[in-house]
Amino acid sequence: MLELGPQVTSPAGANVRNLPIAERDRARERSQGPQGQPSGDEERPIHIEGTIMSPGGTYLAAPGRQDGMPAAALSSCVGGMGVHWTCATPRPNDDERVPYLSEAELDTALDRAESVMKVTTLPENPYGRAIKDVVRDHFEGVLPEERMPSGLPMSAIPRADGTIEWGGTNTILGDAEINLQPDTICRRLIAKAGHITGAEIEHLPTGRTSIITADVVIVAANTLQTPQLLWASGIRPDALGRHLTEHVLVYSVVALGEHIVEAAGTDVPVAELVKDPTASTIGIPYTAGLHPYRTQIMHMANAPFPVDEDTFRVGAARYVAMGNGVRKFPRAEDRVTFDDSQLDEWGMPQMTIAYELTDAELAEVEEAKTDLRHVAEKLGTFIPGGEPTLMPNGTSLHYKGTVRMGDDGGAESVVDSSSRVWGFDNLFLGGNGIIPTATTTNPTLTSVAFAAHATPAILRQLDAVFAAQV
Ligand SMILES: Cc1cc2nc3c(=O)[nH]c(=O)nc-3n(C[C@H](O)[C@H](O)[C@H](O)COP(=O)(O)OP(=O)(O)OC[C@H]3O[C@@H](n4cnc5c(N)ncnc54)[C@H](O)[C@@H]3O)c2cc1C
Repeated sequence: MLELGPQVTSPAGANVRNLPIAERDRARERSQGPQGQPSGDEERPIHIEGTIMSPGGTYLAAPGRQDGMPAAALSSCVGGMGVHWTCATPRPNDDERVPYLSEAELDTALDRAESVMKVTTLPENPYGRAIKDVVRDHFEGVLPEERMPSGLPMSAIPRADGTIEWGGTNTILGDAEINLQPDTICRRLIAKAGHITGAEIEHLPTGRTSIITADVVIVAANTLQTPQLLWASGIRPDALGRHLTEHVLVYSVVALGEHIVEAAGTDVPVAELVKDPTASTIGIPYTAGLHPYRTQIMHMANAPFPVDEDTFRVGAARYVAMGNGVRKFPRAEDRVTFDDSQLDEWGMPQMTIAYELTDAELAEVEEAKTDLRHVAEKLGTFIPGGEPTLMPNGTSLHYKGTVRMGDDGGAESVVDSSSRVWGFDNLFLGGNGIIPTATTTNPTLTSVAFAAHATPAILRQLDAVFAAQV
């Protein structure tokens, strides 16, 4: 397993949120690639996904060449964004689900993903319960019971002392024996007649290059760098880099009203009641036709940006940050392209991102803002600057589609339903780039499900190699 960035946590791939603040800060800085800006966590309030342009642990993907998606960001470290993530792992619903796996196949794969990621809902506290009850009341009779607001599924292990071990890539890999090579970039796959024979790699600190051979190759280098590596390897199907999507993000922050304190039956400050800074997480699932957004409500003791509490009164229940994920429909012209004549900071073909929201999508954004306002009215008051706001494109950190799955033999897709690159026998892809549908749901559970679904095909490919050798 090669990773161009450093190992920043131990065990490899562990979530930085499990670290003490100073160590977390350092791990974030070390993940920020050559741009390496200090993330300065000690001076900043808590960051919740989507509140700033490039949150700690990430850096802008292609400064000056990403006008359409100004907030598009990368993490470069063992575990990738999976050591910096918030751990929300809801399932996709309705037309978010890919049509290329049967319903049963996708459900089995999602079950497996939930199992390896240790998906759970966090223990409830009185404030979280009161918030959930108010929101459920708001959607009563609008949403079917199975789509009503509920505890958000998270990749997390609640500990007996009330703290939480947040999931990372180590949660999935467990004790698996892996030959992990950090700080080592794959520069090019060596392809011959629909088969990958090996890869050119470089250990970045020493500049030492070598060629490794492999029977099966899996590229899971994220939605922007997976197509980059394929491009650099001369693997350039027409759909490569196209159909770039994310879920558009509308974001707001609400100071909870006194009625939440009353309903909770306690006025103990939330920071004393709950040990983790993210006190409760509530999700409202995507439901086609009825609620075409996925709402994430994060209850927290501190607002994600400064509030002057001398002039703006905030009660014991404190704050919720609420975001609506809105659909971005795949279009071939929303894409990342690569230029062989210019190299990025890693010495790979320079990427440029072209991406635009359509009028129909912007109309949906306005509806999503109204939806948030209606929920917020029931909970409290927007903090100054906390009104529903369309965040810059790329803020979601959930980029999808550039190596999309399909059943068309490669006409408008890059991989088949087993995540195998069309026209190759031993090249498989992983990560969010495979997701071909317009989704509002956080993508990582789905990507892990696709990996689980691909596993039998990968094992069959290995078996075929071993059989041929015997
Ligand atoms: C702050 C934050 C919060 C998030 N919250 C959530 C959430 O709550 N729920 C959710 O579903 N998702 C969330 N995400 C997104 C989630 O982390 C990603 O979906 C997931 O990590 C994607 O995995 P990936 O393997 O596709 O890409 P990545 O995690 O980006 O990993 C790819 C790795 O490949 C490496 N690489 C690239 N090119 C090469 C090369 N040529 N050679 C060697 N290595 C290479 C990169 O350095 C990188 O480390 C969040 C992300 C962030 C940053």
